[in-house]
Amino acid sequence: MTLTEFLLDRIAEDERSLPCINCRRPVEPDGPRELGEFGHVAAADPRSDFWDNVCPDPTPVPRALAECEAKRRIVEMFEDECKRRDIYNRAYDNGQLTTNQDLRSRLASNAHCRGLEEAMLALAQVYADHSDFREEWRP
Ligand SMILES: [Zn+2]
Repeated sequence: MTLTEFLLDRIAEDERSLPCINCRRPVEPDGPRELGEFGHVAAADPRSDFWDNVCPDPTPVPRALAECEAKRRIVEMFEDECKRRDIYNRAYDNGQLTTNQDLRSRLASNAHCRGLEEAMLALAQVYADHSDFREEWRP
């Protein structure tokens, strides 16, 4: 499991456990479930008390939802910059970067990628007790 996969999984879990702003019940209690026809969670057993614990029209706390989105954006920026960095590094290895501008762009991309990775590692520390967390992600 990569750091990207690990973080995207944790962010998705966080999103599912956000409380509804109106009733404070979790948006999706008891972890991941199948989404029903109308985008709401479906009870595995209609006789269960599942529906007593789920909001019929959940509205997650906006700031908490925005935090999940911001974390996801950092992961996306990291992935995009890694692709750019790899292209620059491959071109460099093949002797295709000839101008100072190209060489500066390669160095900038490598540094930008490293900075985003440090941000990702800082985010990952929040989940250090998760079984999928790797020791090499510790600072
Ligand atoms: Zn609610």
